[in-house]
Amino acid sequence: MKLALIGFGQAGGKVVDEFLAFDASIGGGFIESAIAVNSATTDLKGLENVSETNRVLIGQARVKGHGVGADNELGAEVAEEDIDEIQGAIDRVPVHEIDAFLIVAGMGGGTGSGGAPVLAKHLQRIYTQPVYGLGILPGTDEGGIYTLNAARSFQTFVNEVDNLLVFDNDVWRSAGESVEGGYDRINREIVERFGLLFAAGEVDQGDHVAESVVDSSEIINTLSGGGVSTIGYASEVVETDDGLLASLTGDDGFDEGAATNRMTSLVRKATLGRLTLPCDVGSTDRGLVVATGPPGQLNRKGVERGRQWLEDETGSMEIRGGDYPIPHRDEVGAIALLSGVTDVPRIDQLQQVAIEAQETTENVRATAEDDFASLMDTGGELDALF
Ligand code: GDP
Repeated sequence: MKLALIGFGQAGGKVVDEFLAFDASIGGGFIESAIAVNSATTDLKGLENVSETNRVLIGQARVKGHGVGADNELGAEVAEEDIDEIQGAIDRVPVHEIDAFLIVAGMGGGTGSGGAPVLAKHLQRIYTQPVYGLGILPGTDEGGIYTLNAARSFQTFVNEVDNLLVFDNDVWRSAGESVEGGYDRINREIVERFGLLFAAGEVDQGDHVAESVVDSSEIINTLSGGGVSTIGYASEVVETDDGLLASLTGDDGFDEGAATNRMTSLVRKATLGRLTLPCDVGSTDRGLVVATGPPGQLNRKGVERGRQWLEDETGSMEIRGGDYPIPHRDEVGAIALLSGVTDVPRIDQLQQVAIEAQETTENVRATAEDDFASLMDTGGELDALF
């Protein structure tokens, strides 16, 4: 499906930048336009693939290009004040060509955390296309303020979008990695999963002899109904269509039974392995299974079996399925999109920690006021100048 991508804040911008690289590498064509919005000049300068004209600096009057720190209330304010600047970039998007907007933001910071929900609300008011969010949760070791920001932003963002796709940094960290190196790797994981999903709805049916290509309306229908979504992905290296196997066996090397078993097992791995947001799979409301890989390695039966398995596993009657053929790819993969999930321990934990952080902040503030008053108290014996 064709998307207008808007990266809000540093994480949002970097992930959108990575989406552009991924789209080009698979010849996906799912990005119609890509925009980056930030209150920090240096973050915008660091981008590589988003065009200069589509980099929007907001909040200049208030923070002079230095960012809003981790103040997401200020992030929301500057987004509201400068919504016309953002709209200026969106005016250049051929909106009639797109299927949806996707706003990407890290939820723990300031600019994206505060600004993304403001932009979602604005877009919903103006356009008829669905507005999706891709929200990145902070690691648990980032501290109270990031958790509080993320919980408040999540609470707001989910109500302003047609569906909030979530990625949890906490589950995807690796020990011994630098923060920057870690983010680069994590960002590639993000764009591979969400990129393959959105690119899936962008295959021209005439291009391939695919048996059951996923259509963008199937992605939209799976996401419609709102709430929170998560994605699982598993893949296996295979010989490409023109590879070694064909030359050895003298035939096309395609084994129907093996391909079906492989796809069923990949769907299980995708669903029961590491999700972008871990959850109880049984709480899924709607789902979509996408089989990716070289067209010669995909078969209808494999997707159908995988789809049926997910239906049993989730107890949902609304599980769709289809192919995303990618010529010359040396991997067969399965994407499981679980939409409208409700049993998500990480969100409960985030909210709990945020409530505690909020109370602690209020207490510290109250005590600090008292302590300052006592520091300055001279019993009325010292006069201030004025
Ligand atoms: P903003 O610029 O004020 O919106 O804030 P940032 O985007 O810098 O940070 C918000 C949160 O996003 C942080 O707390 C991190 O959890 C996360 N984050 C920052 N950079 C990246 C990145 O490159 N990739 C990922 N996955 N997360 C990031």
